[in-house]
Amino acid sequence: MKVKFYGVRGSIPICGREFQRYGGNTTCLRIHREDVNRIVIIDAGTGIRNLGKEIVNMGLKQNVINILFSHFHWDHLQGFPFFAPAYNKNQRIGILVMGKERKITNLKEIFSLQMQKEYFPVELDTMGAQFEFLTYGDKETFYGAHVTVTPQFHMFPGGSYGFRIEDTTGSLVVCTDLEHINGIDENIINLAKNADLLIHDGQYTADEYKKHRGWGHSCWEHAVEVATLAKAKRLIVTHHHPDHNDNFLDFMEKECQKVFSNSLFAKEGMEVTV
Ligand SMILES: [Zn+2]
Ligand SMILES: [Zn+2]
Repeated sequence: MKVKFYGVRGSIPICGREFQRYGGNTTCLRIHREDVNRIVIIDAGTGIRNLGKEIVNMGLKQNVINILFSHFHWDHLQGFPFFAPAYNKNQRIGILVMGKERKITNLKEIFSLQMQKEYFPVELDTMGAQFEFLTYGDKETFYGAHVTVTPQFHMFPGGSYGFRIEDTTGSLVVCTDLEHINGIDENIINLAKNADLLIHDGQYTADEYKKHRGWGHSCWEHAVEVATLAKAKRLIVTHHHPDHNDNFLDFMEKECQKVFSNSLFAKEGMEVTV
């Protein structure tokens, strides 16, 4: 499988010359299985707008496009009204959440409220696509049991989930918006055990983290600790702080590579094979 980053920024989208190489859009990932030409999307931050345009331009024929949500803070939801396939009446779109600790009573309402007329000119029910709102508990298999997804609850204000996605080609773990507030979270180590690729929140440096305890994010040093303890083969750090410009992220990446050589900081448009 391949994973492509459409948004790597945390908290709020940003623009400016000094942020262009890493990109200013907020969290959105596409997972692509080329053999069956199927995609799955994780989160609908502002990056999903470019992904939607790409899907339209490539003429992807996929009966249901699933979007799996880690949680619904703005930086993971804000791009949804601009997702072009959601305006195609022949397209089915699955809105998915997972995790037995989830306490969402009305998943659809999260989207219809975001798009009520005071906030946006088009309401959810008039977008066009056929939406399916689905809640799963623990581990689930998708696409005729070809893909297994295991959710894991994160320490995060309001709750958030990480996912381990496995198929015959490899294992990918995505953990963003999580904090290791009382030492490295054992559950996250277990989720990332021997993963081919771990994508982990690294919003802060260790120094910055000291001033932001309880804010729900990790420093890159925590991401490295998780990758090391879990024996993950490769690490990509994401959810970059909106104040961190390209030069600072280059510096953080170099520091990170000194202690975990097979690591990178995510850039918008980057695609890697798992
Ligand atoms: Zn976030
Ligand atoms: Zn969040």
